[in-house]
Parts: sequence; C-alpha cells; structure tokens
Amino acid sequence: MKLHSKILLGLATGAVAGVAANALAPGAQWVRLVADYVAGPVGQVFLRLLLMTVIPLVFASLTLGVAGIGDLRRLGRVGGRTLAYFVLSSVLATVLGLALVNAVQPGAGIGSATREALLEGYRAQAEGMRVGGTRGLGIDTFVHIVPINPLRAAVEMDLLGVICFSLLFGAALALLPEERARPLVRGIEALADVVLKLIDFAMRLAPYGVFGLVFVLTSRFGWHLLEQLGVYVGVVVAGLLLHGLVTLSLLVRFLGGRDPLWFWRRARASLLTAFSTSSSNATLPTNIAVAERELGVPPPVAGFVLPLGATLNMNGTALYEGVTVLFLAQAFGVDLSLAQQVVVVALSVVTAIGAAGVPGGSLPLLMGVLAAVGVPPEGIAIILGVDRLLDMCRTTLNVAGDLSAAVYVARTESAALATVEQVAPPLAA
Ligand code: ASP
Repeated sequence: MKLHSKILLGLATGAVAGVAANALAPGAQWVRLVADYVAGPVGQVFLRLLLMTVIPLVFASLTLGVAGIGDLRRLGRVGGRTLAYFVLSSVLATVLGLALVNAVQPGAGIGSATREALLEGYRAQAEGMRVGGTRGLGIDTFVHIVPINPLRAAVEMDLLGVICFSLLFGAALALLPEERARPLVRGIEALADVVLKLIDFAMRLAPYGVFGLVFVLTSRFGWHLLEQLGVYVGVVVAGLLLHGLVTLSLLVRFLGGRDPLWFWRRARASLLTAFSTSSSNATLPTNIAVAERELGVPPPVAGFVLPLGATLNMNGTALYEGVTVLFLAQAFGVDLSLAQQVVVVALSVVTAIGAAGVPGGSLPLLMGVLAAVGVPPEGIAIILGVDRLLDMCRTTLNVAGDLSAAVYVARTESAALATVEQVAPPLAA
C-alpha cells in the first residue's frame, strides 16, 4: 500500500473512532485514558519527529537552493517571483473569503445569548492568548528578522532568523570560487540526504501518528458547537475549498502550466500531513519530498521556495482571517465600510505572512487585526471552540499554496524544466 493511502486510512479510522467515542461515550474515563496515554503520545511523537528535522532541513535546503540557483541576479529574479506569487495568491484568497462572508452574513444569525455563552466559555483561553503576545508590527519586526546569533535562532526555533541566515550563507557560498566551495556544498548535501532519511523514518510512523492526532481531536471536540457556529464554519470551509479547487487550480494551470488534477493527486501526502498536523512547519519535510519526487520540482527550487512558503505563504490563513474578522464584526454589530474591508484584506495578508506555521499560530495576530478595525479582540473567544478543526483545513490550503508556488517557479526557471518534463509532460499549449 502506498504511504498516502496508509495515511488516509489512519486519518479516516482516527476520525471515525474519535467521533464514535465522542458520541457513544461522552466524557467517559476510558476515552480520556486512551487519548491521554495512547493516541495522544503516538501523535505527539510523530509531530516531534517531523519538527526535529525542520531546523537542519531549512538550513540545508535553503543554502543549497540559493547556492544552486547560482548567480545573484537570477536569485533576485526567483526571489521576486516567489514573493509576488505569495502575495497574489494570498490576496486572491482573502478577497474570496470576504466576498463569501458578505454574501452569507453568518454573523448576523448569531443571537446575543449564544454570543455571550460562547464568550463566557472561552474567555480565559482568549485572555491567555493575548498575554502570550499580540506582538505589534513595527520597524523592529523587520530589524529582528536579522539574527545576531544564528545558533540561538536555531535553538529558539526562530524560523525567520534561520531563513535569513541561510539565505545569506547560501549567497556567500555561491560567490566563492568553485573549488573552495565544493567541500562545504558536498557536506551540506550529505546533511540534506541524512535529514531526508530521518523524514522517511518519521513518515513510517505517519499513519499511526495521524490516527492519534485525529482521534484526540475528534474524541474531545465539542460537536454541539457546530450547531451554533455551523454557518461560519461552512463559510470558512467553502472558501477554502473554492480557493483550492478554483483559484489554485487556475494558477497551477495558467502560471504553472500543469494539469490541476495531476497536481492535486500528486500532492496528496502533503495535504494529508498538513490536515492532520495543523502545522506548515511540521509539513515542510513532506512538502519538500513531495515537490521533488512527485511534482518534479528541481531541488534548488523546492529548497528555496518551500521553506520560505512554510513561514511566509499562508493562503488558507489569510482567507480564514478575513472571514473571521467580518464574522465577528457582524456578530457584534460593527459595520465595516468597503474601505475598512480593504484594510482587513491588507492586514490579513500581512499577518498571514507573519504568523508562525504551528497550530493556532495565526490567532494572536488575528486579535491584532480585530483590534485594528474596531472589533473587540476578546470576541475571538466565540470561535475558539471550532478553531482547531478550521486550523486543519486552512493549513492544508497553506501547504497547497506553497506547492503551487514551487510548480510555478520551477516552470519559469527554464534550466530546471528538464527535471519537470521527466515526471509529467507539459500541457498542450
Ligand atoms: N496552523 C497554521 C499553519 O501552520 C497557521 C495558522 O493559521 O494558525 O500553517
């Protein structure tokens, strides 16, 4: 059986078992014990194995990507295209989300009694998040991207810092004379190979890990919340589906020059990993492997685009933020003008860029967006109960967006095309 089929089986059985346990034995002691001592730990071990590889993987793949792209002008071009694609796809996603939420008005149907009950139930959690930090977006945000100590950036999992160091390291490496650079390049290539093997180890555990993660979630999930927030959840999920099936498919077809069906079929392992881990960072290892092995993206392009994408490109998160801000504005009776909605789009895109690729990474920033447009930030308590479910869905789109960017950049880099042709014939023009 292929790996993605096994993962899918883990996902499906985990979901069925979890939902059944939740429905048939609500709050039962044994369900909690199974979740706490079996399913949870297995899921966490899988997640941690993946996260363990992220720092060396980002360093090795970005450094080799930059060095492999070679001359700095070409690097500038690739970087510019990559960032432009990130912004374009995120803006499209957010605008789509806002259009849907304006049309459906899910917030208008929330009665004040439901609103107060939800606010009350999740208030403590929302406050904790706020203390955890709504970092302001200021000039320091940009200054601090440059780490004074790359090792500390690595130790603290400061991915932007590691990315900054690796980009510069790779650029410097590319400027050395060939025979001086070669030993180090060989060493880093070996490091990348080792990390890929580590990822293979982790992925062997994936079907069980995914079962565990999904079981814990579904067995504890407050399904009754869907009655109250169903329309909102529906709008987010419909927006994500539309963005994937229509927008990203069109981008893959017209900017990437590939058959969307082929793209989605081959991306399966990444999508399933993203859905079950809710973390772009944890999915990065799988994503690089999928891009190279399934989509034929040349390693320098995959190594350059995907680590950047995991931190900077979050289509799903941008869409979700836009929908949530408007939903809460509707629920609190705050009227947002068209101009304010344009601000919501801009802030959603920027904060999606700034959000960390971990479960719930965007929530503190989302509170900042709410405050900026005059919606009470503690209102986030209303949607916290369904957030993990939506996190799984938006992370899937985040990761798909990264892959589509890699396909696009691979196509524009003509030297790279040879590898792509081996995997898939181009579409007839
Ligand atoms: N969980 C998301 C990710 O890792 C970030 C978020 O939207 O909270 O991509």
